[in-house]
Amino acid sequence: MNYVVFDLEWNQPMKPGDEEACALPFEIIEVGAVLLNEDRQIIGEFSEIVKPNVYHRINIYTKEIVNLQMKELRKGKPFPEVMDRFMKFCGEDCIFCTWGPGDLVELQRNMKYYDLPPLSDGPFRYYDVQKMFSLEFEGHKGARALDYAVEFLNIQKSEAFHRAYGDAYYTAKIFEKITSPEILEKFSYDTYHIPQKRNEEVYASFPGYSKYISRGFRDKTEAIHDREVISSRCPVCNNRLKKCVRTFTPGGKYYLNVAVCEEHGYLKSKIRIKKTDEGTTYVVKTQRFVTEDEVAQIAGKRAHIHEVKRMKEELAKRKAGKSRQKKEENE
Ligand SMILES: [Zn+2]
Repeated sequence: MNYVVFDLEWNQPMKPGDEEACALPFEIIEVGAVLLNEDRQIIGEFSEIVKPNVYHRINIYTKEIVNLQMKELRKGKPFPEVMDRFMKFCGEDCIFCTWGPGDLVELQRNMKYYDLPPLSDGPFRYYDVQKMFSLEFEGHKGARALDYAVEFLNIQKSEAFHRAYGDAYYTAKIFEKITSPEILEKFSYDTYHIPQKRNEEVYASFPGYSKYISRGFRDKTEAIHDREVISSRCPVCNNRLKKCVRTFTPGGKYYLNVAVCEEHGYLKSKIRIKKTDEGTTYVVKTQRFVTEDEVAQIAGKRAHIHEVKRMKEELAKRKAGKSRQKKEENE
């Protein structure tokens, strides 16, 4: 299995919010990639400029970052043609590697805009080298800039930054230095296309945690009441577990609960509610074992949120009572 480490440069509208911006917020103007074999040695290179079709002026922010002139872009090839060559470069079976999750999203948005066949019909695994860099060298999740990582690892600066090929090359060089087996097991999942049916939903386990990616739901309410979404199964013995902290939300973006396996301990679920570009609601749930102290903290958070909610309701009731009283007095 080969790796394709790729990077994109894109342009955006001069004014956000116009009609084109809704259909294609970022137009890809350059695609760069290196092909690596299983030993992560470079065996191929790809660099193409895309001829702009949507935005014919370079946005001021893009101009500040990307060293490309409209004059050069006009000499590029149309996006569908570049993609045709890029897909051939990638081959039948490859694992994508990128610096952060954004490039895969914008690539697929541009492909959809041109009605090209989708990269995949559901979620697929890829390597987010940005995330892996922080895990490997800083011991936690993070989102460092590419030039920071290049500097940190003393990689020779032989290529231009903020050009697609250069950034892909540096990402490949950083990827090469990630060697911990448990970090190389930490794939990310692209969810631009979500599972279509229940039996296509994704269940993946990683060292220390597991991940579930749901099919689409009508809305948040339907999602959060789905049996599979709120249920907890022990990743070790596969038993269905009882909750010891019932599902709650600290602000609406995600939900938390804790279940307990008598043999294997406390399992925390974090249920993130997400939306596709088409507006379909889906869920990404991650589960991991937590300590008793963490359970106490989560239970405390839930109790606090419920207490605040109760107090607000009480206050609203009193206000309503007062205004009723006033109304009666006036009559
Ligand atoms: Zn268990």
